[in-house]
Amino acid sequence: MRQLGILGGMSWESTSSYYRLLNQGVRQRMGGLHSAPLLLHSVDFAQIAALQKQGDWEAAGQVLADIAQRLQGAGASALLLATNTMHKVAPAIEAAVDIPLLHIGDAVGQALQQRGVKRAALLGTRFTMLEDFYRQRLAERFAIEVLIPPSEQVEEIDRIIFAELCQGRFEPSSREYYLQCLAQLRERDAEVAILGCTEIGLLLEGTEAALAMLDSTELHVEMGLNWILADS
Ligand code: GLU
Repeated sequence: MRQLGILGGMSWESTSSYYRLLNQGVRQRMGGLHSAPLLLHSVDFAQIAALQKQGDWEAAGQVLADIAQRLQGAGASALLLATNTMHKVAPAIEAAVDIPLLHIGDAVGQALQQRGVKRAALLGTRFTMLEDFYRQRLAERFAIEVLIPPSEQVEEIDRIIFAELCQGRFEPSSREYYLQCLAQLRERDAEVAILGCTEIGLLLEGTEAALAMLDSTELHVEMGLNWILADS
């Protein structure tokens, strides 16, 4: 199996899902005592979130590029950046290493394309929903039209991610709020919903939504598993 490096801790709530799902996936495919060969660097998320808030993406990119180099030096054959939002600095990470960064946007885009989806709703942080780095990749590489909620919902969805989900709080009222946002996006003819923040699946798992949900965490893990097991 190939060793995979994970840039995690953004937040650790979802990194723990990555860790569990990658190991479960290897067990399912390889059986017995097999588990995933991983190198995990888990950051202090308060530091990264502060840089996001200040808009200092260059510094945030530098922090993650340094970690990527250390993971490469320790023997990682590819990298998984376990957050959608921080893919905003994917180019800085890619420029710092010689190994591939398995991009979460490509994991999502490929899944949408395989399902024949043309118009998808996107839930994530305000950065992921409003800025180009994620939506443009889906549009240009996978011909997906991305629909986002109206601005007051963007703010509330983002607030819930940082004030609750990334702090391990999963409130019924927030679950209901997200489901209402999805019902409205269904009315605007979205075909599916991209859970484009790695903690949203933790809030919505087991719920019935108006739209089929594609969880970026699960799709990204699948991409990581395919990499780990490509030679075995
Ligand atoms: N994990 C979240 C994401 O997938 C948000 C945390 C972050 O800002 O990195 O975007």
